[in-house]
Amino acid sequence: MIPKNTIDEIFETVKIEEVISDFITLKKRGVNLLGLCPFHNEKTPSFTVSPTKGIYKCFGCGEGGNSVSFLMDKEHYTYPEALKYLAKKYNIEIVEEEMTIEQAKAANEKDSLYILSNFANDFFIEKLWQTNEGKTIGLNYFKERGYNEEIIKKFGLGYSPKQKDSFTNTALNKLYSEDYILKSGLGFKIENTGIVDRFRERVMFPIHSFSGRILGFGGRALNPNAKAKYQNSPESQIYNKSKVLYGIFFAKNLISKKNNCFLVEGYTDVISLHQKGIENVVSASGTSLTIEQIKLINRFTKNITILFDGDNAGIKASFRGVDMILKEGMNVKVVPFPDNEDPDSFAQKSSEEELSHFLDTEAIDFITYKTNILNAESEKDPIKRVAIIKDIIRSIALIPDYLTRTEYCKVCSKLLDVKENVLLRDIDQERKKINLSQNIKKEVSKEKPKKISGDLKLKKYEEEIIRIILNYGNEHINFDDEKINISEFIISELESDKIEITNEPHNKIFAEVKNLNKSKSELNQSFFISHSNNEINKLAVDLLSSEHVISDNWALKHKIYTGSESHNLKKTTEKAVLMLKLQHVDDKIQKIQNKIQNSSIKETDFVLLNNLIKIKNKISILVGRTSF
Ligand code: ATP
Ligand code: MN
Repeated sequence: MIPKNTIDEIFETVKIEEVISDFITLKKRGVNLLGLCPFHNEKTPSFTVSPTKGIYKCFGCGEGGNSVSFLMDKEHYTYPEALKYLAKKYNIEIVEEEMTIEQAKAANEKDSLYILSNFANDFFIEKLWQTNEGKTIGLNYFKERGYNEEIIKKFGLGYSPKQKDSFTNTALNKLYSEDYILKSGLGFKIENTGIVDRFRERVMFPIHSFSGRILGFGGRALNPNAKAKYQNSPESQIYNKSKVLYGIFFAKNLISKKNNCFLVEGYTDVISLHQKGIENVVSASGTSLTIEQIKLINRFTKNITILFDGDNAGIKASFRGVDMILKEGMNVKVVPFPDNEDPDSFAQKSSEEELSHFLDTEAIDFITYKTNILNAESEKDPIKRVAIIKDIIRSIALIPDYLTRTEYCKVCSKLLDVKENVLLRDIDQERKKINLSQNIKKEVSKEKPKKISGDLKLKKYEEEIIRIILNYGNEHINFDDEKINISEFIISELESDKIEITNEPHNKIFAEVKNLNKSKSELNQSFFISHSNNEINKLAVDLLSSEHVISDNWALKHKIYTGSESHNLKKTTEKAVLMLKLQHVDDKIQKIQNKIQNSSIKETDFVLLNNLIKIKNKISILVGRTSF
């Protein structure tokens, strides 16, 4: 835990232009600095850094944020990693909070395990390249598999000798403690014999963390009599299988750049693809894909392409894992390989061009693929068909984005020969079921269920309200000879009509503004810009840096005001409040009209109609109240 006051100190000390200049060249342009955007390809610079506000914004691709979010986006650091980077750059000491004796011990233990793993890797590499046994057994095996020296070195591959305590003895001689040899799983105890090596007569694949540290090993047996073809390090303080992806360290930059991640079964697939020029590839190695691994990929891209080998049972077993990916809002494609081929063998056979052409042309989107596979199995059996349709509906229902779901319905409607609106309706029901169970969970944890508004217009108007508050919240305007500050005016206007901000994280910002207002504190822009919630600081940066971009469009589109908005604050604010109110009234009218359309005329319709008229009157009053 980095203490709050250290985080504040970091934000107060860092100069955003210095942080960013370590990565790109910036030139002075007025009060700001300008450079070529590192997040998209451009020839004329539109990446703007504002030293006074401490933020950056690209007017080409829309990326924006503070020093910390820059490092998170550019270098894929986590929040604490970015803070630590900045602290180091500016010599700020981080004294981590609340380290108990146990935690301090654990931190020590982790460091010791990292050091030992590193030593072990050096040992295995040395055995592979420098000993006769390693060269004839290990290196020859790799070469027969088709690996060249460059790739063997890049992945740090090694060899563990036949002798049962070769590594353990060397480590003990170098004064590494027995304790850590056991904890790392590199050795284990046998009664009456002492400690022996886990890995013997195997080629060794070191497993790297996302930042390149060695966490553990996989070893492939070379002796045909070995019990298990693959043996892996056991879980330890530093090696948590469910959180690691083999190859992520070598792949991460390419995954971002290509905006796609290939997912394969094992070590050998990762390495063979690399050797043939496909570097954005990782593997869950020996376990089925976990949610943590999916989230790790999600830090670099929203697109996953799974490479299946040509065996049907394995493919069907993986469907559940893919559902987890869909639920994260990621796009999944699959590339099925020909019978009896896996990515490793296929890559070995192909040239670079053939391989990349194959991956490009054979990738199909997952839902289509799944539908086709299941469809082929069902023949004409209606009972099987229903089960399959339900299965597909469950997968589509997991996708968070409405438009994506609709598109899939179109595709599947054709493939399954089921009407699109029937699919849509069932998906809707399935989603209600999912939402229902989520809401119940939320109620149990006493959290207010999130209001999700699909309405883009509403979002736009809410955004405008928050934009005005962030930019001008502290300024005063005259209303009927009374001076009132803008945030207070907006808060009271919305409260009097019981209007809530429904979008995330807009509502969080609004809630904080209300609190500040209650305690009569000034609204502070940098508080929001450096907020620890990434969504909040991103939105704040967007709304603070896009004054001209957003408001000019907005003004033009709605013909609302002319001239500089800061000279017309009263009008700007009133209009924004009014537009939001109108939108709410419109929504209500729409709902009532839908109801009337869907039912035959009943007594209750008159009540509804009456409501409708009242609401319309309300609109007229609202519109008449200001002079535009
Ligand atoms: P072969 O030469 O017989 O094809 P292989 O070394 O290519 O053997 P496969 O059985 O083809 O291995 O498996 C493919 C991939 O699956 C391997 O790269 C390996 O990383 C992974 N794998 C297989 N079994 C395990 C296991 N028990 N633990 C971890 N990974 C495994
Ligand atoms: Mn194989």
